[in-house]
Amino acid sequence: MTSGTPPHYNAKMSDRIFRFAPSPNGQLHLGHAFSALVTYDMAREAGGRFLLRIEDIDTARCLPEYEVQMLDDLAWLGLEWETPVRRQSEHFETYRASLAKLGEMGLLYPCFASRREIAAHALPGLTDPDGAPLYPGLDKGLSRKGIARRKQSGDPFALRLDMNKALAMARDMSVDALTFQETSRGMDRIETIPVEPRRWGDAIIARKDVPTSYHLSVVVDDALQGVTHVTRGRDLYAATDIHRLLQVLLGLPQPLYHHHPLLRDSDGRKLSKSHRDRSLKSLRDSGATPRDIRKLVSADVD
Ligand code: GLU
Repeated sequence: MTSGTPPHYNAKMSDRIFRFAPSPNGQLHLGHAFSALVTYDMAREAGGRFLLRIEDIDTARCLPEYEVQMLDDLAWLGLEWETPVRRQSEHFETYRASLAKLGEMGLLYPCFASRREIAAHALPGLTDPDGAPLYPGLDKGLSRKGIARRKQSGDPFALRLDMNKALAMARDMSVDALTFQETSRGMDRIETIPVEPRRWGDAIIARKDVPTSYHLSVVVDDALQGVTHVTRGRDLYAATDIHRLLQVLLGLPQPLYHHHPLLRDSDGRKLSKSHRDRSLKSLRDSGATPRDIRKLVSADVD
């Protein structure tokens, strides 16, 4: 199947593959429990398969003890997943191969700029959908010699996608317009959403510290694992812009998407790992049962 063909919502029940893909960089909180339960319940209702994937490319922030706690919390919640579990930090070579492909297509360029330099040069008020200053194109015009010199001196660099080139190439490659299929209103009300990758600017496809990024590893793994249904929070809705673009460029199939609402704390803020009071571990320690967690997450949804 290629990116141009419709996603697999007609797949046989047993071919429907769902995944929950947390990052072990802190304690799981109620927001994760909600996302995991939504995905798990959807997989069961669809008679499909449920995978757990450990998204630990950030090897500095993702710690084995968090992973152990995470697996324990999810099992306690009542989730069962297939083994072996895919751990992204064990597959950097796979991501490197996709990176090489994009490089051969002439779509990547090295960026040595630091966050501070980018913030200093970014146009005021221009941000990407995550709220980060929009990359102002520093380093885009570096000469071959300049690049070689900086690489030789060991300066760390990220690889960015040349968005204009990537969109032009995607237009040539794809029969359809760049869209994704959103199923959160129900399988009988699938919406076709046009993507707007340009709002991300020249996005980072490989970070300075690892030969991949969240965006690249997610699309590569979803394709490798045959994921047909991507279920995740609305905070990742805009990231689907980049995911669809990469799927087209790399010739990967498109899954269906279901972006679920986010849990909010009492001040209306999105829950995050820093809210330790709502961590599953602390709730468990204070005597909550898995049934209590299910009740809590269904009450808090916005
Ligand atoms: N690893 C991501 C997170 O923890 C989720 C990735 C995804 O579902 O696409 O937020």
